[in-house]
Amino acid sequence: MAKDFYSTLGVLKNASEEDIKKAYRKLAHQFHPDKPGGDEAKFKEVNEAYQVLSHKEKRAQYDRFGRVSDAPNGGGAQGWDGFNGFGGNGAQWNVNFGEDMGDLGDIFETFFGGGMGGVAQKPAHKRGANIEAHERITLEEAFSGTKRVLRFETYVDCPQCKGIGYEKSKGVTKCVKCNGKGETQEERRTVFGSFVQKKVCTECRGRGEVPKEKCTECKGSGRKLSTREVDVEIAKGVEDGQVIKITGMGEAGELASGTGDLYVVVRVKPHTHFERHKEDLITEKEIKVTEALLGKEIEMVDIDGEKYKILIPTGFNLNEPLRVPGRGMPKFGIFGSSSRGNLHVRLNAKLPKSLSHKAKKLLEDLDKEL
Ligand SMILES: [Zn+2]
Ligand SMILES: [Zn+2]
Repeated sequence: MAKDFYSTLGVLKNASEEDIKKAYRKLAHQFHPDKPGGDEAKFKEVNEAYQVLSHKEKRAQYDRFGRVSDAPNGGGAQGWDGFNGFGGNGAQWNVNFGEDMGDLGDIFETFFGGGMGGVAQKPAHKRGANIEAHERITLEEAFSGTKRVLRFETYVDCPQCKGIGYEKSKGVTKCVKCNGKGETQEERRTVFGSFVQKKVCTECRGRGEVPKEKCTECKGSGRKLSTREVDVEIAKGVEDGQVIKITGMGEAGELASGTGDLYVVVRVKPHTHFERHKEDLITEKEIKVTEALLGKEIEMVDIDGEKYKILIPTGFNLNEPLRVPGRGMPKFGIFGSSSRGNLHVRLNAKLPKSLSHKAKKLLEDLDKEL
C-alpha cells in the first residue's frame, strides 16, 4: 500500500499549495533531528511527502496513481535489471509505461531512435531536474556586476558512454525473448471469449534488440553523480530576487534524456549606508546646523567608492531629502543605453551639545538677524 503523503503532512487532499507549505514547515521544524524531541525518521517522511506534494506534476501523478515514478535510486540500480519488472494487463501496461517505466522507455529512444511501432505509447520525455541555487551578493556587486563560480553535486552525463548507457563498440544483439519482433503475443480467455493480446516485449521494450554490454561506469543509467562547476555572470543593476537561468546546467537525465536547467536566485544583501529603491538609492548624512545654514559643500562617498561633494542649497528644507542626480544604481534605457538613477540624501542636522560663551553670543546675534 502506498504511503499517504497527505496524512503524513496532516492536510486534506484538496489542500492548497500554501497549506501544504505551511504544514510542511511546521512539521519539519518539529521533527528536525537537531532539535530536542526531533525524530529523524519522521523528518524524512515529512520531507518525502513534501517533495511530492509541493511539486505540481508529481502531485498530479501521485493523485492519479498513488505513487510517483522518479524517486532517485542511486543512479544506476535501475537500468536493465528493471526490465523484468513488467506484468499485469494491457491497460495497466500503458499507464505504467508512461509513469513508472518512463526511464526505460527512454533507454530505447536513445538506443535505437524512432517510435515504438504503435504498440504502446511513447513514454513521457523525462529529462533531468532543474536546480535552484541562491547566491548572495553585496549592493556594490549589484552596482558593478559580478561573477560567481557555483559548485554543486548533481548528475552529469556519464563521461565514459556519453550518456547512452552502453558500450557502443560492443554493439547490439537480437532480443531473445521476442526473437527480434519487439512484441510478444498472449492468448487470454475472458467471459467475452478469447483474445490474442499483443504486448510490447518487456525485455527490449519493442526494439527487438538489446545492447550487448551496459556501460560499466554508470551501470547503464547514462549518468553519474559529479560536481558541476558553473560560471555565473551577474549583470550590473541586478535586483534582489532576480533569477538567472542557465540552460542545461541542472541535473542530467538518465540516458541522455536531457539535462535540466540551473536557476540562480540572486539575493542582494542589505547595505549599511544605502537603501535601494529600484534604480534609486537613499542614504542618510549627518551635517552641522551651520553647514545647512551656510549652504556648504559636504563630502559624500559614492556606492562605487568615489568621493565627491554636494552643495546644500541655501534655504533648503531639511525635512526633504536632497536629490543628487546620477548617483543611484545602474539604469538601462530602451535602446540599451545605460545611466544611473538618483541618490536621495536625508540630511540630519546635528545640534552642538554645548556652546561656548562666544558661540552663544554669535548665535544670539544671528537670531536677531533671522
Ligand atoms: Zn556510462
Ligand atoms: Zn524483445
